[in-house]
Amino acid sequence: MNLSTDLKSSSSSPTVGIVGGGLAGLATGCALADSGFRVTIFERRPFLGGRASSYEHPATGEVVDNCQHVLFGVCTNLIEFYQRIGVEGNIRWFDEMTFIEPGGRQSVLRPSSLPAPLQTLPSFLSFPFLDARDKFTIARAMAALAPFPAQDTGESFMNWLNRHNQTHNAIERFWKPVLISALSDDLECVSVSAAGQVIRETTKSTEARRMGIPTIPLTQLYSAAQNYIVERGGEVKLRSGVESLHSESDTPVLKSAEGMNKFDFVVMALPFFSLSNVLPQNGPSTALRNQINKFGSAPITGIHLWFDRQISDLDHAVLLDRTIQWMFHKSRLLERNSEGSYVELVVSSSKNLIPKSKQEIVDLVLGEVREFFPASRAANLVKSTVIKELNATYSPRPGIDRERPSQITGWPRVFLAGDWTATGWPATMEGAVRSGYLAAEALLKSAGMDKSFIVPDLPASGFMRLFP
Ligand SMILES: Cc1cc2nc3c(=O)[nH]c(=O)nc-3n(C[C@H](O)[C@H](O)[C@H](O)COP(=O)(O)OP(=O)(O)OC[C@H]3O[C@@H](n4cnc5c(N)ncnc54)[C@H](O)[C@@H]3O)c2cc1C
Repeated sequence: MNLSTDLKSSSSSPTVGIVGGGLAGLATGCALADSGFRVTIFERRPFLGGRASSYEHPATGEVVDNCQHVLFGVCTNLIEFYQRIGVEGNIRWFDEMTFIEPGGRQSVLRPSSLPAPLQTLPSFLSFPFLDARDKFTIARAMAALAPFPAQDTGESFMNWLNRHNQTHNAIERFWKPVLISALSDDLECVSVSAAGQVIRETTKSTEARRMGIPTIPLTQLYSAAQNYIVERGGEVKLRSGVESLHSESDTPVLKSAEGMNKFDFVVMALPFFSLSNVLPQNGPSTALRNQINKFGSAPITGIHLWFDRQISDLDHAVLLDRTIQWMFHKSRLLERNSEGSYVELVVSSSKNLIPKSKQEIVDLVLGEVREFFPASRAANLVKSTVIKELNATYSPRPGIDRERPSQITGWPRVFLAGDWTATGWPATMEGAVRSGYLAAEALLKSAGMDKSFIVPDLPASGFMRLFP
């Protein structure tokens, strides 16, 4: 059977069923809906966004994000996706990052007019919480990482740091805050290539290192993709979990509570830990399951606190030497006029918090908040909640890149998307959108159409232009 001839001779639009309404599924759906496909998205939950979503929290009555999500200027595909669905105005950009020590001393990392990768050097050199030796060792390590892509030799990044004579302070007060938040796992579990990529990408220009934060709840942000798909003749089915996938003479069939749904094409945009449950028992599933079994998860915990008064005039901050790694001042970021402060505290790779109760975690972080933000000592905690995401991201351990499957599968009309598939990016919103665009490109190619969605990387600037 010639698939592209069949589709071209058909008078109606080709159909595609997409399983998963996270960023990967939504990006695939938007790209294909815009290319003349009739898209149906199946999402198990009552809302879109997947691991980047928001919902009304029953105990507090507040709309909360499952966790604060940030992006950087280097996320070219995510930014294009925002433009495509018309929400780019809901991202606020920041050039500065404030580091706070217990006790409240603040230091600001900000760009200067020096060429990349030296933009932030003047403010970095003024950091009082690192001494001259710490700074010298960090600068030497950055010089080794920034120019060329690092290879994954099986070594952990922690081992690499020790081999490169990093001081205790350099590791605890620079490398951990920067990389554990970016890669969501302990440095012992992170490959050198993943860590190197974060450093390389975020130092290549001033635009690349700008941090973006949504100013509306995540599901509101991503629901714009539903309108985009519906306006182009597609459909988004919420509370519509897919139970299984099988093929009938190469035609993919999705079984849901409504029955059997046949499509010209299917894209499985699921995390690795959900995909196994819906794959057929045989055929290409065996090889895919073997790959899936090599993946592990890293947890992230978000702690949401509502105070009766303002505790800080900062929008966000990196917190040093304690459990909490980031503070996001949500009442300021969401532009909610309130007398009090709503803050979200984020702990990436939060393995130590998982066994603790909600109350134990709130007590722990409240004590830390009072160390970092003196104004909070007079404030009363009005309400709180803790959201533990056990499977927040896949662990970017050494060797895992070799196991990431392509978006093309052994079934001719079935494709994969998801932050864990082969994108060259770690588990991020950018990685998820890239996977969706790659899946859409591969699907169109198999239907005899040539179209590209992937957006080129940002160009390097300054001295970074001298490197490949
Ligand atoms: C706590 C936390 C903090 C994070 N912070 C950041 C950050 O700051 N910046 C960043 O870039 N990234 C961050 N990430 C990572 C980012 O959220 C993910 O990489 C990205 O959202 C993954 O998108 P996805 O579409 O690949 O998968 P998912 O978002 O997991 O989407 C898969 C969807 O499939 C649905 N589904 C599952 N099974 C079925 C089924 N059988 N039938 C139908 N639907 C099904 C799920 O409900 C889900 O909606 C964070 C993640 C977490 C959890």
